[in-house]
Amino acid sequence: MERRIRRELRTVRAMIGLHCRDRHGCGPGRCDRCGALWEYTRQRVERCPFRDDKPTCLRCTVHCFRPEMREEIRAAMRYAGPRMPWRHPVLALLHLLDERSGQRSPAR
Ligand SMILES: [Zn+2]
Repeated sequence: MERRIRRELRTVRAMIGLHCRDRHGCGPGRCDRCGALWEYTRQRVERCPFRDDKPTCLRCTVHCFRPEMREEIRAAMRYAGPRMPWRHPVLALLHLLDERSGQRSPAR
């Protein structure tokens, strides 16, 4: 796997873990829900057809995540983003997600 993708996945996993620990009270590990979210995220990213062209992190979440999974990952990132030491990629990612979801928010 490409190094950049790997790094991004590590970041995402750390964010999910942080969110889970603080919000779900699962200790340093992940609960079933967050474990499933992580697995889903990893699979999506690994299968992303835009891998080489992606300007940043999880752009493919926007294209291929199921709506409920997208909400989960966004919630985790919103929470963990400001708390992570490596701010720039995270903020870029948040920006991308927000930008895209604003453009095409589902009518629900
Ligand atoms: Zn959790």
